[in-house]
Amino acid sequence: MLSPTAIAKPLHFFPASAGGASPLAQLLAKNLRGDVLFDSASRGRYSTDASIYQITPIGVVVPRDQADVLRALEIARDQNVAVLSRGAGTSQCGQTVGDALIIDNSKWLCNVIAFDANAMTITVEPGMVLDHLNAWLKPHGLWFPVDVSTSAQCTIGGMTGNNSCGSRSIEYGNMVHNVLSVDAVLADGTQANFGSLNTPVSGTRLQNIVSSLQTIATRERTELAERIPKVLRRVAGYNIDLFDCQNPRAYTDDGVANLAHLLVGSEGTLAYSRQITLKLCPLPVHKVLGVVNFQSFYKAMDSAQHIVTLKPTAVELVDRTMIELALSNPAFRPVVEKALLGQPAAILLVEFAGEDHAALVPRLLLPLHPRQEARGPDRLRALPHHLRTGRVAQGHRRHHHRQATQWPGGRGAGDLCR
Ligand SMILES: Cc1cc2nc3c(=O)[nH]c(=O)nc-3n(C[C@H](O)[C@H](O)[C@H](O)COP(=O)(O)OP(=O)(O)OC[C@H]3O[C@@H](n4cnc5c(N)ncnc54)[C@H](O)[C@@H]3O)c2cc1C
Repeated sequence: MLSPTAIAKPLHFFPASAGGASPLAQLLAKNLRGDVLFDSASRGRYSTDASIYQITPIGVVVPRDQADVLRALEIARDQNVAVLSRGAGTSQCGQTVGDALIIDNSKWLCNVIAFDANAMTITVEPGMVLDHLNAWLKPHGLWFPVDVSTSAQCTIGGMTGNNSCGSRSIEYGNMVHNVLSVDAVLADGTQANFGSLNTPVSGTRLQNIVSSLQTIATRERTELAERIPKVLRRVAGYNIDLFDCQNPRAYTDDGVANLAHLLVGSEGTLAYSRQITLKLCPLPVHKVLGVVNFQSFYKAMDSAQHIVTLKPTAVELVDRTMIELALSNPAFRPVVEKALLGQPAAILLVEFAGEDHAALVPRLLLPLHPRQEARGPDRLRALPHHLRTGRVAQGHRRHHHRQATQWPGGRGAGDLCR
């Protein structure tokens, strides 16, 4: 069996071919405590991510600590080599593959740096995996609510990089609404805290950035207001509307611009995120879930816009392909079967959460249950007719309380209620 010391020993893999390690690889290996991987097999592994793209990187470093990151960035700068930060590599548009030196944060940079339960904030390193963070927070009755589907793999650095969202973003917002500050390293090596402009910005470099941004924001105010899409999650371009928010949900609670929001969604092109401070939320006390079955995919899609007006915490669409895949998995089949009425083309999972379970049940039943029309016409009238033709899952019709159940903080199909 390997001893922990043996496991922690840095790996140095260089090309076996004539010439061996490049000067860049040698410099990195000499100066870093972490792994330096320049061999074909490692570069092959890092040439892919969750996208369809494939680009072989120059090499890979797996930093042991933040000092390693700073050294790697400095060496890359001296050698004029591009760097590409990588968390779990689950982005789907090729963001983590490139002709660059890859910095893989996911192995060692996973620590909690600071936690304030009263203020409900936490500062973590970029490689912290979302599920690990939420497991850490659970005993404190808190969680980080940007619940991305790939929560078992995705990292806070990657989520910040691509402004991730989750199935509960209609309630909690996405990363741009939940990142409070980012300790970052700029391309020239400047280390700076990107945070609320509530407190004075320190350092000439950052002060210059802020004043340039403010000049652009003032000059282009009308253009920005006209052209920036008014959608909750936007990654097409930088959040230069941070001084005049165009997002349907305010970026900050106090209305003061926050420089961290410039880095959120910037895909690592502006800075390397060293430490990220997040806004936390209390864990929901109770959750209830309804499953609405639709005979056409179109109807399910069309109904979502009306269902969100009922203020659920989550609305998740599951199409026939996913239903079939879930049914073909013996672990999921029994649960999924309970949620289906015949052979729906799609289902919508609709969740409500709150402190009072008794108050949640009617919220779930009234809008979704076709038979409720006689009992709650006011509530139903607010809904378009086609929504009422969506049917709630089997079992719900037998007894109302079966439709709603306490949802013990879990995720996924295994938690479908009956
Ligand atoms: C099946 C599937 C389901 C998905 N579901 C969702 C979903 O529900 N919601 C959603 O938003 N996305 C979803 N995604 C996309 C992706 O999984 C998430 O966006 C995830 O949060 C990305 O995290 P990551 O750690 O893999 O980031 P990566 O892909 O590793 O990186 C994302 C970006 O951040 C940059 N970055 C990483 N670390 C740093 C750093 N330290 N400093 C600066 N930049 C950095 C990278 O360069 C890259 O541009 C899904 C993907 C798959 C394959």
